[in-house]
Amino acid sequence: MKKIALFPGSFDPLTKGHVDTIRRGAKMFDELIVGVFVNTSKKSLFEPEEKLQLITEVLADFPNVRVISQSSKLTVEIAGELGASFLLRGVRSVKDYEYEKDIAAMNKHLAPEIETVFLFADEAYAHISSSLLKEVIIFGGDVRKYLPPEIYEAIIRKRNTYGK
Ligand code: ADP
Repeated sequence: MKKIALFPGSFDPLTKGHVDTIRRGAKMFDELIVGVFVNTSKKSLFEPEEKLQLITEVLADFPNVRVISQSSKLTVEIAGELGASFLLRGVRSVKDYEYEKDIAAMNKHLAPEIETVFLFADEAYAHISSSLLKEVIIFGGDVRKYLPPEIYEAIIRKRNTYGK
C-alpha cells in the first residue's frame, strides 16, 4: 500500500525550515502532501490561494510532493479523504514539543488510525519561525537566507504594497 503523509501547517510564509522538513519527509513516504491550512489563532500575511501558488512553485522539483489548501475541515478529515495514514510535523524546541504533543494526542483521539510522525528541525533552521521572519522583514532586517527566493520576493512585493 502507498505510504501517503500529510504535512499540515499555516506556512505563512513557507521558510527554508519547512522546505528542509519537506525534503526529508519526501524521502520517507511515497507521497507527501503539503496542506496549507488556516490557523485561526494566527494573523495571516498571505491569502490561502497566494500560498498555494507560491508553495507549489517552490516545491516543483520534488516529484512526490504536492500542495493543497483548505480552510473548513479538520486535518484528520482531510488526511482521510487523501488516503494519508500519516501526519508529518516538525519539532524545533521544547516549546514546539509541548504544543505538538497536544495536537498529536487530539488527532489520535479523533482518528486513531492516523499516526503523527515528527522530524527534529535541522539545527540551521531550529531558531526560525514564520512569525519571527515576518517581524524582522517588516522592520527592514535581512533574513533572505532563511527563505526560498520566490517567497522572499513575494513578501517584499507585499510590504511595498502596504507602503512599509
Ligand atoms: P502551524 O500554524 O500549524 O504551527 P507552521 O507553518 O508554523 O504551522 O508550522 C508547520 C509545521 O512546521 C509545524 O510542525 C512546525 O513545528 C514546523 N516548523 C516550523 N518552522 C520550522 C523550522 N524552522 N524547521 C522545521 N520545522 C518547522
